[in-house]
Amino acid sequence: MQPTEWDLNPKFDFRDEHMVREGEKVSLAKIPTEFEGPFRGKEHGRAFAAHAIAEIQELQYRMYTEAKQSLLIVLQAPDAAGKDGLIRKVLGRMNPQGCRTYPFKVPSSLERAHDFLWRIHQATPAAGKVSIFNRSHYEDVLVVRVEDLVPKSVWKQRYEIINDFEKLLLHRGTRILKFYLHISPEEQLERFKKRLDEPTKHWKLNEGDYEARAKWGDYREAYEDVFEKCHSEDAPWHIIPADKKWYRDASVAAIVRDTFRDMDPQLPPLDADLDEIRRLYERELAKQ
Ligand code: AMP
Ligand code: MG
Repeated sequence: MQPTEWDLNPKFDFRDEHMVREGEKVSLAKIPTEFEGPFRGKEHGRAFAAHAIAEIQELQYRMYTEAKQSLLIVLQAPDAAGKDGLIRKVLGRMNPQGCRTYPFKVPSSLERAHDFLWRIHQATPAAGKVSIFNRSHYEDVLVVRVEDLVPKSVWKQRYEIINDFEKLLLHRGTRILKFYLHISPEEQLERFKKRLDEPTKHWKLNEGDYEARAKWGDYREAYEDVFEKCHSEDAPWHIIPADKKWYRDASVAAIVRDTFRDMDPQLPPLDADLDEIRRLYERELAKQ
């Protein structure tokens, strides 16, 4: 069945639905991990996402040609919550000429010899570009805090440093969108099982996933502090119910699309004499 106009443009504000409220303490336990929003199931969500992705592609092309604004998309989540899938199916559909993904792993010794934002700053988007962070500077107040990798007196100062850093990016015309993919521990275990059962997914397996899982509550607390201390309307966090992959994809596509719409990138003004170029063209045509 062909999707109707309403199917593709449901009256639903995904940003408002999922955005953290400024100054409000988030309790992740109270936010559902399963949610269908305005959709009548998976087929509807997938059709909507495809439509939103096409508009993202158009707007990203305009931003690339405009070469003024830029967009930074930060993805954070527990293991197996779907960062890679979201990049593959939604964000990675942007034109690679103007978009790059940066995965942040355990810092190298060179990276560790610098301040924690050193490797991050180099990956921020230039004018006209999009950067997608698969993990980010937030790991320095998440895994680092939960695993006690630096003293509390050090990581406590980082929230303010992060806010100042993000302000610097906003100041140069970079929009910032931050997503937390919210899954239940039950869904995570289900996905760990699929990885075990599927040899092509074995490369993703590691013991560390189970160690992090054992500290679910500590991570939850660390995330809740991030949402309280590092959220603003200009650099917002969105908490995306991610047990259903199709809802994760559709809602993030909607939020990225709506942000691009706000940015309203414009094709650059003509920098050549159109009449002269037409004349040159006619001359070449006459020679044939
Ligand atoms: P993955 O994204 O699942 O491939 O794993 C990357 C691993 O790198 C995760 O376990 C992260 O917690 C870890 N990681 C990322 N950034 C940092 C950091 N700044 N300090 C320590 N570990 C990190
Ligand atoms: Mg992993």
